[in-house]
Amino acid sequence: MLNEKLHAYKKKERMQRITPTKYKDEFPFLREVDSFALCNVQLQLEKAFKDHFRNRKQFNLPKFKKKRDKQSYTTNNVHNSIRVDFEKGLLYLPKLREGVKIELHRRFDGKIKSVTVSRTNDGKYFASILIETENRRNKVVEPKSKACGIDLGLEHFATVTNDFGSYKVEHPKYLRRCEERLKRLQKSFSKKQKGSKNSEKARLRLARQHAYISNARSDFLHKLSKAIIDENQVVVVEDIGVKGLLKTRLAKSVSDSGWAKFLSYLKYKAEWYGRTFIQVDRFFPSSKVCHRCGHKKEDLALNDRTWCCPGCGENHDRDVNASINLYLVGLGRPEVKPVERALVDDRSPHGLPKKPSRVETGSSTAKG
Ligand SMILES: [Zn+2]
Repeated sequence: MLNEKLHAYKKKERMQRITPTKYKDEFPFLREVDSFALCNVQLQLEKAFKDHFRNRKQFNLPKFKKKRDKQSYTTNNVHNSIRVDFEKGLLYLPKLREGVKIELHRRFDGKIKSVTVSRTNDGKYFASILIETENRRNKVVEPKSKACGIDLGLEHFATVTNDFGSYKVEHPKYLRRCEERLKRLQKSFSKKQKGSKNSEKARLRLARQHAYISNARSDFLHKLSKAIIDENQVVVVEDIGVKGLLKTRLAKSVSDSGWAKFLSYLKYKAEWYGRTFIQVDRFFPSSKVCHRCGHKKEDLALNDRTWCCPGCGENHDRDVNASINLYLVGLGRPEVKPVERALVDDRSPHGLPKKPSRVETGSSTAKG
């Protein structure tokens, strides 16, 4: 369909409306899949062209996918053609009457609208089930601390200050170990002859490691952001734009896009649970100002990890001082009344991961 449409487009001919049916004689395997799967592809393709003609700058012309990219198809529920048997752990899809064994992440009730089955480039299969359900509300934990300031760093992932003091959160050590393995696999892949069997094996190992790291990092960031949102009513972070520019190449591999992801998680979780999320202006001097006397140390260098305030003589840990200043911004906010119920439903207890939490936090230090 894409080929024919692109062909017509290049010849400046009128694009025909094509349905997948016309290919079924030439490609009999198309009869093996359910008709909705094909239908949805047609709709997606038409939307892609429509978007492009509506806004050429934002939407490029649709193009062919690589076979190794993520593959997926979507099918719709009609007359109970899609069902989930929670007890047996089976998913029934059109044309798959005997059901597919699945690992269930959570239970749900509601009407199934559609299912998207995808295969990632590391060879794993996922089914996302879209359901229609009542807008259930989630229980909100009452915050123990009024405010919290977070300074993000390279040496430590974050330095956090709230009503109870300051603590540092380390970069997860297992991620660093994983990145070393990643480098080895990358090297091994690049040495293999392109297109050979061994090259494909090495590619798969590399893709798996990439997926593993990305999942492990998300897991860490989700758990940390949830814990912070649960504990505090107002969460203040700095603008990371400037810090991003200062990152060295080595540091980049460690923190990667972790900061940006972390802030986006904090932001939407704050919305979900009725907390206030504040990102301070990039010109806010969180590191240079003494949190005790307000003296601004203009000549504070980037690699000064500790400094002594000329105004009051206090010795500062750079990151702790910065996080305290951000915390004070949060405290300055007028009282916000916490909501009683959050906006969205969260995972049911059935869906909690079995593995123990792997958030690694540093030891607490007293607030200066
Ligand atoms: Zn001072």
